Amino acid sequence: MSFDLVLFGGTGDLAWRKLMPALFQAHRHGNLPEGGRILGVARDDLSDDAYRAWLKPKLQEADSAKRPSDADYEDFARRLHFLRMDLSQPEAYGRLRAWLESGRADTIVCYLATSPHLFPQICEQLGAAGLNDKRVRVVLEKPLGHDLASAREINRVVRSVFTEQQALRIDHYLGKPSVQNLMALRFGNVLFEPLWRRESIASVQITLAESLGVGTRGDFYNRTGALRDMVQNHALQLVTMIAMEPPSSNDADSIRDEKLKVLRSLKPFTEDSVLRDVVRGQYRAGAVAGVAVPGYLEEAKVPSDSRTETFVALRTEVQNWRWAGVPFHIRTGKRLAQRESEIVIHFRPLPHPIFAGPAQANKLVIKLQPEDGLELHMLAARGSASALGQQVEALSPVFLDLDFDKVFPTQRVGAYERLLMDALAGRLNLFVRSDEQEQAWRWVEPVLEVWKRDPALPKPYQAGTWGPPASSALVARDGCAWPEES
Ligand code: NAP
Repeated sequence: MSFDLVLFGGTGDLAWRKLMPALFQAHRHGNLPEGGRILGVARDDLSDDAYRAWLKPKLQEADSAKRPSDADYEDFARRLHFLRMDLSQPEAYGRLRAWLESGRADTIVCYLATSPHLFPQICEQLGAAGLNDKRVRVVLEKPLGHDLASAREINRVVRSVFTEQQALRIDHYLGKPSVQNLMALRFGNVLFEPLWRRESIASVQITLAESLGVGTRGDFYNRTGALRDMVQNHALQLVTMIAMEPPSSNDADSIRDEKLKVLRSLKPFTEDSVLRDVVRGQYRAGAVAGVAVPGYLEEAKVPSDSRTETFVALRTEVQNWRWAGVPFHIRTGKRLAQRESEIVIHFRPLPHPIFAGPAQANKLVIKLQPEDGLELHMLAARGSASALGQQVEALSPVFLDLDFDKVFPTQRVGAYERLLMDALAGRLNLFVRSDEQEQAWRWVEPVLEVWKRDPALPKPYQAGTWGPPASSALVARDGCAWPEES
């Protein structure tokens, strides 16, 4: 298969920090077909060689295992090209078409790594230039809209040019190996399915914590906030992977149909439940890992009276027979104590403990960041007995650790690498369908509406902590505690 991958926004932060390193790894792993070309597109005036030279030191900033040697980079760089285009100018697309025609690739993937306000224009112009035949796919980065109406409008334009099968909405959390393994654990094994329900599971907790602040993206973040940036997409996608029913097959629409059912089963918010079940916070100055950091209102490009939330904790339920009554607790935030993303499935306590000591319930921890893996926490006897005839000692907590790096030591594929390969191959399982995305917006919208009217400010929390105390109180109502408190 020959391919052309066009990276709109080829000089942007996302391109050099995530996409190009992923493409380099795919090249190094031998996963990119020979002869496939990668075209960076932006308004800079760069030759192919200047683009290659610009990218090289950026890839060499990677950690040592991923850093290209000079020879490795030269080999990869043969694929790289650059085209100067102003994406708002229709005539630029004729030059893109001419460039693509010079290659006659079987597959053309247009990755839209630009500001989303350009997406409708880019799609329309690709269509007008005839670049929407069945060889072409578009990959759309988040955020896709800022509410249901704007997401629908983007989808309307995209659908007027491309079929649903050609439009790939990316959520890189779905490309993470541990999320793949959650699917494998649930649907490739019989062990968990009988337990994967309200009778055995007491609660589900999802934490997506960042230790960084808003950095140089204060203006973007201030328009967005944590609910739109992390909950509407990543956190809800994780909820669907946990709560979905077994799909009838591994094809994209069977999986996405089941995910959509979960989104439709989420307990809708009312004015009262937003005020009761959603906590919003904003960081103040503090210290992260011993380094003093400013508060959100002191960050560059953030207005000093901003009401944007940098933290959200919420409680929801999936209202169906499998999950009724099981709390799903979600929290996400910036400038938290650690960069750590994980899902914890808390199983119910023993019905009748017979061993000495506190009876800890089992839990399954799905680690997403910074490392990925699965841990099954259990209790075990150490096997030591006293000669004096006393009882075997109390059980000790142990965990079965499925460390993927040990089990599969070669060729671990990162999230963006996996998703880029899927986009080139036309595998849609891990991309979000428009109806899923719109349903997720429908669910978060009442929260945005209530916050707009609510005179209360986001609750302050000190940078380097786990958010405002109200977040702990929220889960305590269900008899739960966040991992660092339990
Ligand atoms: P960025 O650093 O501002 O890069 C934007 C890119 O688009 C640049 O290459 C820019 O180049 C190009 N561009 C802008 N206007 C253009 C125009 N009219 N014609 C041609 N090229 C144009 O933004 P980013 O951080 O990479 O983010 C890109 C998208 O990905 C955004 O939607 C963002 O929300 C999303 N995203 C980013 C990240 C991340 O980690 N950065 C993560 C997830 C999602 P010129 O200005 O030189 O033309």
